[in-house]
Amino acid sequence: MRIARSTAQDPLSLVWSPSYRISVGAGRRLLILVASLSQIFETNFWGMEHSTCVAYGSTFPAWCREHDEIDAHAGENARFDYILVHESAHEWWGNGVSAKSWGHFWIHEGFATYAEAVYLEEKEDAEAAQAHLEGMKASIGPTSRLFRGENVDSGAAYGRDIYFKGAWVLHTLRYSVDDDDLWWKSLRDFNLAFRYKNADTEDFRAILEKNTGKSWKTFFDEWFYGEGVPSIDGTVTTRPRSLLVQVKVKGSGKTDFHVPIDLTWREGATPKKKRILLGPGANQVEIPVQAKPHDVAVGGLDRVLGEHSIRLQ
Ligand SMILES: [Zn+2]
Repeated sequence: MRIARSTAQDPLSLVWSPSYRISVGAGRRLLILVASLSQIFETNFWGMEHSTCVAYGSTFPAWCREHDEIDAHAGENARFDYILVHESAHEWWGNGVSAKSWGHFWIHEGFATYAEAVYLEEKEDAEAAQAHLEGMKASIGPTSRLFRGENVDSGAAYGRDIYFKGAWVLHTLRYSVDDDDLWWKSLRDFNLAFRYKNADTEDFRAILEKNTGKSWKTFFDEWFYGEGVPSIDGTVTTRPRSLLVQVKVKGSGKTDFHVPIDLTWREGATPKKKRILLGPGANQVEIPVQAKPHDVAVGGLDRVLGEHSIRLQ
């Protein structure tokens, strides 16, 4: 390894610190990396988390731009030098909190990959974060599974699912929680409770349940222990005195899924919203209204992993 060619002016110098902490941050949602420059080493591999020293093997996109050099990883670096964010995120997830067993390896890689989207959400906006996550979808197969099994070794645990499905399951879970304050509190509590210790997915679930006051067993049974992703297909029909939801939920693998969707509409000038929990198979739900609904919309589906289509009629 050799010392990176970064300088005090290089963006790298603002990225990483051993004196990290978790802060509430602007909008109460950012994991802040405290900017006091320490070691980042350039290596000949892509990137690697090491406690107190991130190994960096990417192409220094800012330096390439500055010096008019071709960035060999221009595609991957299109939005940001993501490997820096990913490896630094391991200070919380992987180095800070480590998995109790390889079966729960997504606590390292899924959480760190989701941190890339969180970084974009804070630096740009929710659309940029969503676009980054959309780019991962093609890598999530119909029998993808986060839980890697009991008594597996690192070779069996390692794979694309723990990264990309892991990030997406956190995205879907956040939407399902439907309360960002509780969501960020749960991530912080999980990290603080298990910092420099080992944890598994059940530990995370317990903290989420304590903070939200409800069970998340079904969610983790389906999205963590289960396989595949759901697809939701159907219609919402506007009637004079009701909204009729007729949709099917189908899993791509062995697992059946429960998925919430958010309906919004107006009755006169009054905005209305209702969250409906869809179950596996055919769903038919009729929502009574006081006046003929207009401006009907279905929200949230873009935050649920899978390909979905609900048509308004
Ligand atoms: Zn990683």
